[in-house]
Amino acid sequence: MRKFVIMGVQGSGKGTQSELLCTDLDLVHISVGDIFRWNVQNHTKLGAQVRRTMTAGELVGDDMVESVVRERLDRHDWNFGFVIDGFPRNGRQAEFFMESYDIDAVIHLELPDDEVRRRVLSRRLCPNCGMDYNLIADRPEIEGRCDICGHELITRADDTPEALDARLRDYHQKTRPVLDIFGRKEVIHDIDARPSAEEVQQSIRDQLGLPPYKPAVALST
Ligand code: AMP
Repeated sequence: MRKFVIMGVQGSGKGTQSELLCTDLDLVHISVGDIFRWNVQNHTKLGAQVRRTMTAGELVGDDMVESVVRERLDRHDWNFGFVIDGFPRNGRQAEFFMESYDIDAVIHLELPDDEVRRRVLSRRLCPNCGMDYNLIADRPEIEGRCDICGHELITRADDTPEALDARLRDYHQKTRPVLDIFGRKEVIHDIDARPSAEEVQQSIRDQLGLPPYKPAVALST
């Protein structure tokens, strides 16, 4: 059983790296942001409660986040383990998590703010099938259209310069201290997130002593 937390500022590649780890290690990728986005897109009650907060790039309340995480992990569909991404985002969430679950490793993707801006503002998403694109590194074949399903691509509502500033501020003020809390008990693996997705994946595996990355796996961002 492998239980990993992946942390890093927005745009550092947490989603991509989590997927690459999960695909051949049979782990379940749990993205709290994806769970919220799914609820917003499907107009659930939870979606209505978090939509405005998310669009502004602000953090959803801790009680709601903790119940979403608890409910997700209580499904126990992660026989070989999980990679949790986008959580914890502040000290309280970290304490809650450490009280309830053992963690095997914390992966910390490091990326300077100017590179974050460059990457995040070029992200595009297919609202139909969920495929991610990046206009710098991973352009769709036909401009503005999803390669998989042909649907028109959109920009995530919180990928605007204003919302990104709010998220960067929250990250530096609230999320970075989580690393200090984890650091008291766990080893934090600091990974340079600037190289290509494949190289970053290999560094994660080297540091964690995991089997080597097989590049045949398709990347989504
Ligand atoms: P992400 O895809 O991880 O950037 O998350 C998108 C948005 O979901 C964030 O900007 C927050 O509004 C909300 N969110 C995701 N995870 C958390 C969390 N752990 N705590 C509070 N809000 C969260």
